[in-house]
Amino acid sequence: MPPAVIDLRSDTVTRPTAAMVEAMAKAPVGDDVFGEDPTINRLQDCIAERLGKEAAMYVPSGTMSNQIGVRLHCRPGEELICEASCHVYVYEQGGYAQLSGVAAHPVEGRLGVVELAQLEGLIRPENDHLVRTRLVCLENTHNRGCGRVLPYDGVVEICQWAHDNGLRTHLDGARLFNAVVASGIAADRWAQHFDTVSVCFSKGLGAPVGSALVGPRDLIREGQRHRKLFGGGMRQAGVIAAGALYALENHVDRLAEDHANARQLAEAIQPLEGLRLVTDQIDTNMVMIEVDERLGTAAEFSALLAQQGLLILSLGPTLLRAVTHLDVSSDDVARAGPILAEVAERSLRGEASRIEGPPSAYA
Ligand SMILES: *Cc1c(COP(=O)(O)O)cnc(C)c1O
Repeated sequence: MPPAVIDLRSDTVTRPTAAMVEAMAKAPVGDDVFGEDPTINRLQDCIAERLGKEAAMYVPSGTMSNQIGVRLHCRPGEELICEASCHVYVYEQGGYAQLSGVAAHPVEGRLGVVELAQLEGLIRPENDHLVRTRLVCLENTHNRGCGRVLPYDGVVEICQWAHDNGLRTHLDGARLFNAVVASGIAADRWAQHFDTVSVCFSKGLGAPVGSALVGPRDLIREGQRHRKLFGGGMRQAGVIAAGALYALENHVDRLAEDHANARQLAEAIQPLEGLRLVTDQIDTNMVMIEVDERLGTAAEFSALLAQQGLLILSLGPTLLRAVTHLDVSSDDVARAGPILAEVAERSLRGEASRIEGPPSAYA
């Protein structure tokens, strides 16, 4: 038998574990549009409590969660400030504009991190020519920032400044629990600085479907209207919410294993000729790699790796991203190193024939 494929494309690729499937099969359900799904209600209470907020709303995706957050805080003709490579700005089709008539003011960060000094002065004065600045969005951990955990003190400073100036704050915490485990700072401490927080169950936590938007009760209640408008009113979705609940109760602490595996992978890549780590500070479960042009484009190099059973995503012409997760063991990572080494060496010797790479993806 050929060795199993090692899939490092994203932490979204995990399959539910046997215990999770069992929890899903047994979940009591009801019609959630009527608020009658007991499993969804339990999940919402559980995540709201973990984040120290009044209420939560289960939604099909992190994109919907973020977009409902933006819509709750901003009216048409208003503006959000965000980091320039964040998910809300780059990977949601400009949903804030398409869905809510909101403008974005992106600020270039360093590996996803912006500092307060970059934001001061961006709030637009009241003037008929200008949009109104309304919201600051941060992302933690930062996806394009190589899984970076935002510096806690910086987050506190920025949110304090935002609130002092009448702005709202939203956290895209798709991978908030990776930040919690890596920093040792509890979820409710991170969350307390934000009006709303979005968390994904379908990333590192390993659930098949879903995210939650968490915040004050009246805001989340209003958010249910937007969820319905966006087509996210689900019915007996307790079946999937049970997977999310199981993940929340059982898969948080184990994220430390993913982080250790990512560090192990980075160490294996560090000495390889033709590959360069974007940063050797591996905070969480992501490793980003610059591919030397002698190895072909990132997509071409990734296609060669795929032939050897190693799946790594190309995120740009020269950029690869590897993500560790629930379905990747330390042994898998130990096998990935030599595959990378061998394919890189063959390419440098000109022995690898270049092949078309798969299209880039971004989760
Ligand atoms: C994955 C992700 C999301 C949401 O993605 P969906 O695929 O819509 O669930 C939002 N923000 C970040 C930072 C992400 O990585």
